[in-house]
Amino acid sequence: MIDLQLHTTDSDGTWPWRKVADACVELKLTAFAITDHDTMCRRTEVLEYAKKYNVQAIPGIELSTAENGHTVHLLGYFLNGPLSKLEGRLDFLRQGRLDRNKLIITRLRSIGIDVTEEEVLAIAGNKVVGRPHIARLLLSKGVVSNMQDAFDKYLIPGGKAYFPKEELPLREGIDLLHEAGAVTSVAHPGLLRCTALELETSLREWRSWGLDGVEGIYPSYSPEQVGFFSRMQAKYGFLITGGSDFHGENKPHIKIGTGTGRLNVPDALLEPLYQRRDEVAAAANRN
Ligand code: AMP
Ligand code: ZN
Ligand code: FE
Repeated sequence: MIDLQLHTTDSDGTWPWRKVADACVELKLTAFAITDHDTMCRRTEVLEYAKKYNVQAIPGIELSTAENGHTVHLLGYFLNGPLSKLEGRLDFLRQGRLDRNKLIITRLRSIGIDVTEEEVLAIAGNKVVGRPHIARLLLSKGVVSNMQDAFDKYLIPGGKAYFPKEELPLREGIDLLHEAGAVTSVAHPGLLRCTALELETSLREWRSWGLDGVEGIYPSYSPEQVGFFSRMQAKYGFLITGGSDFHGENKPHIKIGTGTGRLNVPDALLEPLYQRRDEVAAAANRN
């Protein structure tokens, strides 16, 4: 079993990366990837961890991108190329999150909810700030009764205090990650709000832009969805990736490796991923 989508306190998870890594080892996962939002700050430590404990610990990232007005999360794995250009764009995205945080807080205050930017940043630990941190603050103040309630009432599009954040065009994200020597995969495409036909049309186009993979195994997918992504793999040559999207207490129903209980991302996905890793790294380091 492997798990290729895990979040830590470096973004909007509640477990420090070391605790997540140790739990993966404890669970005897064959491989795991740390994929925090818009940061690759643990890349070196994850590689050192892999060496020291002789496990397949993969540095990763989940990049905020957008396409056709839809938010699309783009996973990047390995990051074996030159990183400075990507780092510059990540600075931009993180600043965009801080700016959005201000807007959301101002709106919440304007409707009589006593929250401050400082309180959100304290929960985020001055790392990458996201809506789950605001949700947690609302929960701790008793404004809502659970995390989902905070999203539904205030933080989703249409909610009382929703504001979008900066996102890179998907195509730029794919190029950026490739230039940084990362294999790319669209995170949880099954959550995109569109029909199967629309999704296939998008995936075909994104494949032509160089997108390597799709997250075809994910806790909330139905067997039909898993089948759909397996057909996409056969038809367009995608890699399949899969992960739990673990966020610690911020998604309390999701466990590392097993998701809601039935997730089982097979080891067999690794070999094609490693093959692609070597191709992408070779191209990135040629440029
Ligand atoms: P952000 O990066 O600030 O846009 O927040 C995105 C994170 O919020 C995602 O990774 C999810 O963990 C969480 N999230 C987004 N939409 C929802 C939703 N409708 N319900 C619960 N959590 C959500
Ligand atoms: Zn997250
Ligand atoms: Fe995501």
